[in-house]
Amino acid sequence: MNIIEIKNLKTTYNGHTAIKDITFNISQGEYVCLVGENGSGKSTLLKTIIGLNKKDSGEIIKHIEPDKISYLAQNNLVDINFPATAKEIIMTGIQRHGKLPFYKKEDHIRFNEICKLLNIEEIVNRQIGELSGGQRQRVMLARALIRNPELLILDEPCSGLDINITKEFYKILNRLNKETGLTILMATHDLDEIENENARVICIATSVKFDGTMEDGLKMFQNDVERK
Ligand code: ADP
Ligand code: MG
Repeated sequence: MNIIEIKNLKTTYNGHTAIKDITFNISQGEYVCLVGENGSGKSTLLKTIIGLNKKDSGEIIKHIEPDKISYLAQNNLVDINFPATAKEIIMTGIQRHGKLPFYKKEDHIRFNEICKLLNIEEIVNRQIGELSGGQRQRVMLARALIRNPELLILDEPCSGLDINITKEFYKILNRLNKETGLTILMATHDLDEIENENARVICIATSVKFDGTMEDGLKMFQNDVERK
């Protein structure tokens, strides 16, 4: 079952075409890696899908409710001086805007489940600024997951993190995908670290250049590297 269909999508910035002719579907439970060089349009595509950027033309048909989509922006966007604990930040992912109480009992239960799953129980009462990059990124993942999304969209979640932290992070995503059926769409440069043979790779350079299996995607990149 498709949860999202993208047809001939085009987005521009002041006349500059960032993406065009983008067509693909994502079905429930898929793990899709969006790859492409810097400036190829990955962030623009993700932001257009979630409505942060306005499309010029094309269609985005969502077969799930908007509140079932969670988005995790690039990790360097977190201001580490923001005066809040990890818990406070995670809970903003579920806040019932305009309604009191902000949180219900089941939200706290869900909070505990997520912290256990991501192994962050020990750090949730610390200030976000005191945490390491890898811990902070797990906190941001917890924030994205706390409202039980069906589709998780991530934009280069591990840029700037060291390789072991990166591998740990991708292991968590694999588990979520395999054990809970969470659908994942992620911009990444780390195909080698993802270790998910079922993943699908979509490569873009303004438009789609490749759409296939992880195995073929890895081969394509190996060839690319050898040619350079
Ligand atoms: P990627 O995430 O793959 O690095 P982006 O989606 O950020 O690519 O960028 C795609 C193209 O759009 C690039 O040419 C980039 O310079 C341009 N671009 C991205 N964001 C903006 C913006 N806010 N204003 C103008 N141009 C932008
Ligand atoms: Mg980007």
